[in-house]
Amino acid sequence: SQVPFAVNEPVNSYAPGTPEVKSLIAQYKKMWAEKIEIPMIINGKEVRTGDKVQLQSPQDHAHDFGFYHRGTMQHVDDAIDAALAAKKQWNELGWEHRAAIFLKAADLLAGPYRDVINAATMIGQSKNVHQAEIDAACEFIDFLRFNVEFMTEMYSEQPVSDAGIWNRVEYRPLEGFCFAVTPFNFTAISGNLPTCMAMLGNVVVWKPSDKQIYSAKVIMDVLTEAGLPAGVINMIFTDGKETAEKVLAHRDFAGLHFTGSTKVFQGMWKMIGDNIHNYRTYPRIVGETGGKDFVIAHPSANVEAVATALVRGAFEYQGQKCSAASRAYIPQSLWADVKKVMETQIASIKIGSPEDPSNFVNAVIDKNSFEKCKGYIDRANSSSEANVVIGGKTDDSKGWFVHPTVIETTNPQYESMVEEIFGPILSVYIYEDLKWAETLELVDSSSPYSLTGSVFAQDRYAVNEAFKALENASGNFYINDKPTGAVVGQQPFGGGRASGTNDKAGSKMNLLRWTSVRSIKETF
Ligand code: GLU
Repeated sequence: SQVPFAVNEPVNSYAPGTPEVKSLIAQYKKMWAEKIEIPMIINGKEVRTGDKVQLQSPQDHAHDFGFYHRGTMQHVDDAIDAALAAKKQWNELGWEHRAAIFLKAADLLAGPYRDVINAATMIGQSKNVHQAEIDAACEFIDFLRFNVEFMTEMYSEQPVSDAGIWNRVEYRPLEGFCFAVTPFNFTAISGNLPTCMAMLGNVVVWKPSDKQIYSAKVIMDVLTEAGLPAGVINMIFTDGKETAEKVLAHRDFAGLHFTGSTKVFQGMWKMIGDNIHNYRTYPRIVGETGGKDFVIAHPSANVEAVATALVRGAFEYQGQKCSAASRAYIPQSLWADVKKVMETQIASIKIGSPEDPSNFVNAVIDKNSFEKCKGYIDRANSSSEANVVIGGKTDDSKGWFVHPTVIETTNPQYESMVEEIFGPILSVYIYEDLKWAETLELVDSSSPYSLTGSVFAQDRYAVNEAFKALENASGNFYINDKPTGAVVGQQPFGGGRASGTNDKAGSKMNLLRWTSVRSIKETF
């Protein structure tokens, strides 16, 4: 009863002029011109409230491509009720039936829905064709297929027995319903959080970010077409804080699967603490909550490799990855050369709408993000401790465009070295070559986060020193590579400290959180 061993979905190159890229851009243009209307999905039904919120595209804030229906607290109640009502039948379905639904969803995404989910991600979240493809298509497909495989492996793991005794474990879903709260920056994460819980027999209330509604709708369309029964995953568009207050106060709340900001996650954890006496069972809490990810280069590092990793790590998807390279520590002896290579690479970067696939940098997600980025740039320009050495331009005349920006600072605690910006801004601190050990200590102590980080060195002793000194400074550690782009099944993803509970997305470690094991001993 083993499913075939999962392999990563091949990434389409979308090379210029290929039929694939033409087809995707045609799909983008078609969806861009449509006026879409997006209902919530509760108990398998489309729910239209008439409280219409206009959808916005980051690359053109004046463009009207439709609206979604906003719900009220009544809809939160309805979603919880629908989930609980669906639970018994969903659990009684064998895991093979559940697996089949998610494997079919993966096939639909790989085939007929590939352009659709990529285009929705490009329009709503301003990703270029490549960033959409590695996320909305490939990573989401990988999550679905690998999680099915991890689930089957997990279910087959049984304790030892003896003559006259049969020991076994039953992998039950959590008792109650689960709550998925997902971010705008990865369609794959948005798809993974509710589906991996549902796969194990759980029922889910899912609140996507209001900046990711379009691709969330496509996720729901795919799951419905794949045969997901009504009520198993209920998608609601409601006020975040009020929804959390309501969901987390419910007696049957059994688990939170969250990706988003540290502040919101901590607020929810507090609410759970305040409600702890009300629950039937202790809820599972899993969160991935941001980062301030480092790149540290040793004097023995390869200059080209460091510069390329910084440009890709800091500016792909406008730096809006929790894993983005955002603080770099470069030795004095290498900085002039690293900067020169970065300048050349950045000069060739095109900025604009994803409609033109050659635009490497697109818009940041919204006005708040644009203004936040601009604030860091303006303050660096007038600071005595920092200089904008590359980029620094912003343009909000049509969309929320921030040019790739590098800030050099003499203060390792300067605000842009320690605060999460979530935009295309990289801060660099230049250290004295002989201060390698001190700088490793600085990297470890300068941030409350611990998500990803990279060390660049050709000297193996230096690699090992960094490996040891930075043991707790990241959950994903890269040696001579950029700190972004973890692949499902290859680099289980997640971090500790203020970056989350480190329950490694896309791995058995994560799936185990959504099951409550019953241990059975039978004597003959
Ligand atoms: N898994 C993604 C990466 O490795 C980052 C996910 C996130 O931004 O939350 O780049």
